[in-house]
Amino acid sequence: EVSLSAIHKSFGKHQVLRGIDLKVEEGEIVALLGPSGCGKTTLLRIVAGLETPDTGEVLVGNASPSSKPVVGFVFQHYALFPHMTVFENVAFGLRVRKRADRLPEPKLRKRVEELLALIRLEHLAESRPTQLSGGQRQRVALARALAVDPAVLLLDEPFGALDASVRKELRRWLKKLHEELKVTSILVTHDQEEASEIADRLAVINHGVLEQVGTPHEVYSRPASPFVSTFLGDAN
Ligand code: ATP
Repeated sequence: EVSLSAIHKSFGKHQVLRGIDLKVEEGEIVALLGPSGCGKTTLLRIVAGLETPDTGEVLVGNASPSSKPVVGFVFQHYALFPHMTVFENVAFGLRVRKRADRLPEPKLRKRVEELLALIRLEHLAESRPTQLSGGQRQRVALARALAVDPAVLLLDEPFGALDASVRKELRRWLKKLHEELKVTSILVTHDQEEASEIADRLAVINHGVLEQVGTPHEVYSRPASPFVSTFLGDAN
């Protein structure tokens, strides 16, 4: 699970997050929605430990950040290593583990093969990223993030760079994958349809404040504020 309490973050005089409380349950996927600049990526970076909040508390997987639970990332332009095969890209996180945690080679190969089967790219294991389509690359990025068995998976506009039909296909596929694996996940997206289809709950942010958290049905049928109503309405 991920538990955020009273998170504040400023850059200089700019208050980007102004008291965020959010709990993502074990196995749940929550989508962060809100206008450009409202603080979604900053919040994700705080969960990842890439940014420190000015005040407030972040708990990931029942542990404080100091014990460093594993966090997986998929970004919009998540660069795969171009000189490595698909197989080695997925294996990367497993290979760079601390010596004591490293898997013996046969186990590592088995784990990577399972992940490639999961993203249905077994046949491209020996290909290079440049030989793959955009959608296939994002699937590899996802497998790479999942390889290390993360306590939480952070998805920042994972399909943002892809065209509409590929996005649709991938979001159906991500939903299925999530139903299978139940990895606790936070998804940032501009695409409300994508958020509603994939996420268990939506968290709508406005100027660094959480306006509403609820199931897609709750948020759409009973918007908690004029902002939520307008924001969701505008994009429809
Ligand atoms: P978008 O949907 O456009 O990606 P967002 O909701 O993810 O936006 P953030 O990227 O979290 O928004 O940025 C929130 C605000 O914080 C923006 O005004 C941004 O310019 C500012 N900001 C983010 N990171 C920094 C930084 N390292 N230094 C200064 N300002 C920053």
